[in-house]
Amino acid sequence: MKHKKKRIEKEYKEILTLTGKYLEQKKEQGERQVYLSENIEFSKKNKSLAMPENLLAELEKKLKNCRECNLGKSRTNLVFGAGNPNAWLMFVGEGPGHDEDMNGLPFIGRAGKLLTKIIEAMKMKREDVYIANIVKCHPMIDPDQPQKRGNDRPPRPEEIAQCKPFLLKQIEIIKPEVICTLGTHATQSLLEITTPIGVLRGKFCSFENCKLMPTYHPAALLRNSNLKKFVWEDMKKIMKEHSKN
Ligand code: SF4
Repeated sequence: MKHKKKRIEKEYKEILTLTGKYLEQKKEQGERQVYLSENIEFSKKNKSLAMPENLLAELEKKLKNCRECNLGKSRTNLVFGAGNPNAWLMFVGEGPGHDEDMNGLPFIGRAGKLLTKIIEAMKMKREDVYIANIVKCHPMIDPDQPQKRGNDRPPRPEEIAQCKPFLLKQIEIIKPEVICTLGTHATQSLLEITTPIGVLRGKFCSFENCKLMPTYHPAALLRNSNLKKFVWEDMKKIMKEHSKN
């Protein structure tokens, strides 16, 4: 709620600044009258167009037929991202897998179900946060077999380079307070470093006007349940950080 209030305050400040500039300009042009009702309608219209949900929908529409990298040729569905456009917390994974590719939604397979449990343990629902990936199309070992399970691989640097600007745009629109990167590839790609996740996890870094917390990918927890306690420690740090704002 506080996060939303801060966003609304910021938006109103921006509107006031723009209105001030507009009035100054009109004054310089020699005008002594402005028609308030027309301007109010104009502001409302622009404000609704600039709502995060509309901006995300517009971006998703633009990406619908994206073939900027090879992943676009073999995907079944583009997995744009899902969740609350006003979320204070955003999770970022590396890329869609088989189930996500078949359904067009992020984190819905086994790892995704574990992520949902983690979110619920944080006393939230999946719909409260926003979930996206570094790349929006399924990276496959064999692109000729999109239906095959276990055909997943991490995204390649050139695929990340093509797709990352779209994720950055999503972050710019949502303006989360905290981004939680899931696993090595998401963390290293966003921070542009090669430090191992075991070293990075559990420590906040600054990223694009918000805080970024790296942690292990839920798929890693399915392989090694000893990692669960570290992820929970990281989630507690995220909740503590949020409670300060
Ligand atoms: S992965 Fe990203 S850049 Fe590549 S085709 Fe899909 S949307 Fe486009």
